[in-house]
Parts: sequence; structure tokens; C-alpha cells
Amino acid sequence: MSLPYEDENVRLVRQSVREFAEKEIAPYAERIDRENTVPEEVIRKTAEMGYFAMRVPEEYGGPGLSLLEAVVTVEELARVSSAVGIMATVSGSMVAYPLARYGSEEVKETYLRKLANGAIGAFALTEPCCGTDAGAVTTKAVKDGDEYVISGQKMFITNAPYADFFIVAARTGKPEERHRGVTLFVVDKGPCVKVSKLEMMGYRGSGTSLVYFDDCRVPETRILGQIGRGFKEAMMTLNEGRITTAATGLGVMQAAFEEAFKYARERESMGVPIIEHQMVLSMISHMKTLLEASRLLIYTAAWKADQGHPDYILYSSMAKYFTAKYGTDLVRLAMQVLGGIGYSKESPVERYYRDIKMIEIGDGTNEAQKLVITRFLLGKIRPE
Ligand SMILES: Cc1cc2nc3c(=O)[nH]c(=O)nc-3n(C[C@H](O)[C@H](O)[C@H](O)COP(=O)(O)OP(=O)(O)OC[C@H]3O[C@@H](n4cnc5c(N)ncnc54)[C@H](O)[C@@H]3O)c2cc1C
Repeated sequence: MSLPYEDENVRLVRQSVREFAEKEIAPYAERIDRENTVPEEVIRKTAEMGYFAMRVPEEYGGPGLSLLEAVVTVEELARVSSAVGIMATVSGSMVAYPLARYGSEEVKETYLRKLANGAIGAFALTEPCCGTDAGAVTTKAVKDGDEYVISGQKMFITNAPYADFFIVAARTGKPEERHRGVTLFVVDKGPCVKVSKLEMMGYRGSGTSLVYFDDCRVPETRILGQIGRGFKEAMMTLNEGRITTAATGLGVMQAAFEEAFKYARERESMGVPIIEHQMVLSMISHMKTLLEASRLLIYTAAWKADQGHPDYILYSSMAKYFTAKYGTDLVRLAMQVLGGIGYSKESPVERYYRDIKMIEIGDGTNEAQKLVITRFLLGKIRPE
């Protein structure tokens, strides 16, 4: 039974992404995690499907998905591989959004079309010094004629080894200006960009990296939006990005639930399938409730954003917070249902357990979401 806003388009998107993911990504999912890389053929086929360009408008050659359709796409990709799901989230939503919203016509023609033609983008805000405190970024952009020279380090950047270009938040003002001195730039990959891949616990293969920008020269036409408005633009980007990031968690939760439910019906103990033991039944019913409650919040947030409701920002943070907090509970219970096998690499639930924790940190920690929720309620945050 579908939700009222899961219309025919959304159902068709889900069906086609699921077919693709099960055929083209599932056979590689374990290897992607083990080797911490996504094979080239998987990237190529996913790009050909337009999943790394989900939110690129049709006028620039993209699929022009609504946010709800993008959420369902990401959910289905992450149900099979969290890495491919978050890669699509970053490139197809967190890079496409600021380009479409803040890019000049020239930037849109160049970079949105690149995404539509299979390029991959990365979004570089966090630094070794500061993640939650993004207004303190230290990467510098210094004006030199009609160019800017960008130098600094960015931390935990998804997609970095695969990226053709980066959206970079850099300081154009003084440090004491804090968030008012930050500007967004588009920086092409090239010799001035060095990527050092990190060994993360989960979402392995998505390329989480330390990225060095070493005197990268970019024309001033590569500024997104306005000088000194980059922090606000990045926050607006994250308001959408949190919904698609939460959707990757939803995909992981769905996969963990499916494994646990199947196992609970097949595994026997004391002469009956374990689902007939009330304590196991209790875990399954609790997991299903957490799964559907997360889904409702995420889809509602996406739907509100699509409809232009200003409170989508509130729902975005609530959806991300709820999915993170209760997604970790759900996957822990899934492992409990599977017993020892769930704790071993014989079962994908071991991978889901490592993966789901990321949702409590990436795209703003649980604590950062609580700040946004309360600040929104107090009227201190509003869309632009
Ligand atoms: C797998 C992965 C992928 C990522 N991908 C990207 C990416 O593509 N691009 C990008 O820019 N970033 C990315 N990040 C970075 C991520 O957004 C940051 O890790 C996150 O915002 C937290 O920042 P931090 O790690 O610096 O922690 P800190 O900000 O140092 O926080 C440490 C702890 O202090 C708490 N804390 C900090 N400040 C406050 C406060 N004011 N009030 C209450 N509690 C507070 C935090 O909640 C946390 O518990 C990624 C992270 C991960 C793990």
C-alpha cells in the first residue's frame, strides 16, 4: 500500500532503480565494501542511468527528478550498496542543487551538462579543523586579477577519488567574519587537487577522502551565488542533502529488515521458527515500526520540499535525526535476530551495522540536527 504522494512516477522510478541495482550493483556490493572502491564498470553503468545527475533539470540534459523521486532512487541504490547510494546523493543532489540554484547561466550550461553526461561531482565543506562549526572554514580563496587562488584542506569528502569537479567552500573574507566571509566555488580536478583516500568504518567505497587544494586558480566566473553568501548557500544545500542522505540510511534499514525477517521465519529453535518466540517477534515488529516511521518522515520532508513548504527544513532535520537514531537501533536488532551469523562476514548485516552509524555523523551530526530543529522552532532559521 503506497503513501498518498507515492504516485505512478515514484512507483516507476522505484521499480526501475530496484531492477538495475539488483542486477548491476548487488553482485559487487560485498567487494565494494571489502576493497573500499567502486569498480569502474559499476560507476559507468550507474552514471549512464543518470543517477549521479538525479536533480539536474531536463533543460540541461538531466533526468529532472523531483526530490521525492531522488529519495526513492537513493533508497533503492543504498538497499544494495550504501556506497553507490551516497555517491548518487552527493553528485545528484548536493552538487546538482547549488549549481542549479546559484550557478550563473554559463556555470549551469557547463557543469549541470557535465553531470548529465556522466561526470561526478563532490561537495567539499568539512575541514580537519571544523565540521559542525562550518562557519570557521580556513581554506582560502585569494583574488588575483580576474581569478581566485584556492588553497587548503577538506576532510571526509565523499566521491573525491571519482570526482571530475568539486564545490568548495572557501574563505574570501577575514576569519573574524566567520560564516559571512565564506564563498562557494566550482573547482575542476587537476594537478593542484590531491586526494588521499581514508579507511572508513562504513559506506566503504564511496571514496571518503582528505582533499588538498594547492593554489588552484579558478576564474571568478566559477563563483556560485554571491561572495560572502557561501555559508548560507551551503546550508540550503544541506537542507536538501540531509533528506537524500537519510534516504541512504533508509535503504540500509530496509535491507537489514529484509534479512532479519527472512531469517526469523527460516531459522528454527526449540522445534519452531524463531519468529514464533515472542521475544523475536517483538524485535521484528519494533524494527518494522522504526522502518516505516523513518520512511514517513523522509518522504514527508521530500514532498514538502517539492511543494515549496518552508518547514521542509524542519522535516529534513527531523527525518535525518530520526533515521540515524532509530536506524542504528533497527540494524542492531537485525544483528540480534541473526545471532552469531549476523556478527560474521557471512551475513551482509555485519556491513549494514557498520554502515548505519554514518547517518548519525555525516551531513550534520544528531546534535547538529537538534540545533536546527530547535532553531527552526524558535524562528531563527528560514529558507532564503
Ligand atoms: C562517511 C562520511 C562522509 C562525509 N562526506 C562529506 C562530504 O562529502 N562533504 C563534506 O563537506 N563533509 C562530509 N562529511 C563530514 C561530516 O559532515 C562531518 O563529519 C560532520 O559534520 C561532523 O563534523 P566533525 O567530524 O568535524 O565533528 P565535530 O564538529 O568536531 O563534532 C564532534 C562532536 O561534537 C559535537 N558538537 C560539535 N559542535 C557542537 C555544537 N555546537 N553543539 C552540540 N554538539 C556539538 C558533534 O555533534 C560531535 O558529537 C562526511 C563524514 C563522514 C563520516
